[in-house]
Amino acid sequence: MSANLQVQWACERCTFINEGLNLTCTMCFLTRTDAKDLPVQWEWRANPDQWIPYDLASSSELENAYQNNLAVLNPKQGYFASIPDRYEIRFNYATRRFQQQNITSGGVRRIRRIANDDNSILQPVSFEDVTAEDTCIICLDSFVDPDTTTSDQHVVKLPPCHGHYFHRVCVAAAIKLRDECPMCKKRVDY
Ligand SMILES: [Zn+2]
Ligand SMILES: [Zn+2]
Ligand SMILES: [Zn+2]
Repeated sequence: MSANLQVQWACERCTFINEGLNLTCTMCFLTRTDAKDLPVQWEWRANPDQWIPYDLASSSELENAYQNNLAVLNPKQGYFASIPDRYEIRFNYATRRFQQQNITSGGVRRIRRIANDDNSILQPVSFEDVTAEDTCIICLDSFVDPDTTTSDQHVVKLPPCHGHYFHRVCVAAAIKLRDECPMCKKRVDY
């Protein structure tokens, strides 16, 4: 986690001063721009068109459960600290569907993981399929042999489109802010 994420930040839209742990504005729910630099982000679906990132403490608790293949988590960190028995997080690894259930009301919300290592959204492209003229549409740099570079620099594409190639780290940052191909604007569904 980069150090600058832990300090207070002013919302770019409404100027409210937010706590460092929060990745969305407490007042207007705008996602903090720096969130795009996190290697992993967990979000809950507020409505069909809006996913809201959990705060850093909750997100790290969810990621820890995910990495340990837990089926059910009773979250107690961050947002959940004041309501430790209110929610259950359910992880279905076969379908990759994750959800948050309010134990009191029974209400269920989808949640999702956006991570640089997610190959279902950031689909690997073979280096042989990329021509010398192809460049990352975001940073405009060319691609290099994957054997000579880190996985962040490997070539990927997004599920809805063909012919638009990116460095993994470049497009991972972009889709954390908008669910679409930065080039053709086709929507990425989770
Ligand atoms: Zn705001
Ligand atoms: Zn790039
Ligand atoms: Zn595209």
